[in-house]
Amino acid sequence: MKKVLVIGIALVFGFAVFMGGTPTTAQAKTTYVTIGTGGITGVYYPTGGAIAKIVNQKRDVYGIRCTVESTGGSVFNVNAVMSGDLDFGVVQSDRQYQAIHGLAEWKDAGPQKDVRAVFSIHPESITLVAAVDAGIKSIMDLKGKKVNIGNPGSGQRQNSIDALEAVGIDYEKDLQAEGIKAAESASLLQDGRIDAFFYTVGHPNGSIMEATSGKRKVRFASITGVDKLLAKYPYYAPAIIPITLYPNADNKEDVQTFGVKATFVTSAKVTDKVVYAITKEVFENFEEFKKLHPAFQVLTKTNMLEGLSAPIHPGAMKYYKEAGLK
Ligand code: GLU
Repeated sequence: MKKVLVIGIALVFGFAVFMGGTPTTAQAKTTYVTIGTGGITGVYYPTGGAIAKIVNQKRDVYGIRCTVESTGGSVFNVNAVMSGDLDFGVVQSDRQYQAIHGLAEWKDAGPQKDVRAVFSIHPESITLVAAVDAGIKSIMDLKGKKVNIGNPGSGQRQNSIDALEAVGIDYEKDLQAEGIKAAESASLLQDGRIDAFFYTVGHPNGSIMEATSGKRKVRFASITGVDKLLAKYPYYAPAIIPITLYPNADNKEDVQTFGVKATFVTSAKVTDKVVYAITKEVFENFEEFKKLHPAFQVLTKTNMLEGLSAPIHPGAMKYYKEAGLK
């Protein structure tokens, strides 16, 4: 009798789903949340994956199902979050600042007033990777070379332009600039189709591993002589790439450059409930989260609230207040 009843319910349930009829309880309760990241060999993609993993563990509690999308990077993510195509995005701290103030790519569109900060994540350095046979040791040696400065939509494109300008190199006249996605840079360099590429990224990452592990010998080129740039913009700070992370690179010493931070952003239109749940789960499972990528090693709960220029989303703020972090 009991068995028959169960089968009967299962049939009715299945029929409703099949007919696309009245949503079942489970369907009605699930909120789908999409996170925009970057190329799959960067750090943003596994970062999105780490956040999604932590949040999806509590699907029964919140009814949130997080998914991750590979995208063209920071600028793409800001725009997709603003249009509602994505709910969250990983975005460089400098890009967050420019979006909220209507600068750089947002000069014509004006301030993106609905950008909301959630937390900041790992440090990223402006990384210049070059073929040893191209004779590039520092950014100054890029004149006349074929260089991937980054796709439109990426965070690194403006960083490359800023760095080149700071050392007196006009990317439109003094070198052959390519605008290709970072995920393709390593193979382009290995195949001899470019001499160098810029990538603003956390370390270590798969992309640079790939670039430094091929037949063509590769090194990091230093980016120095940019003090004025660092003084001018609040979001740039000196940084070092530890050479021990890439044993196959030709360098013997750590590489000097400058950097920003990866941050997690959303829109004012995303509900407090969703932003609260994601913030809470990442912070309450902090040790587990940190283990999900080596670039997260340096994270502390306090430094995850630094480097944010857009207003903090009220859902995140609610958690920070509860946890005594704000
Ligand atoms: N910083 C890069 C960007 O904003 C992405 C780096 C990564 O994917 O780890 O486009």
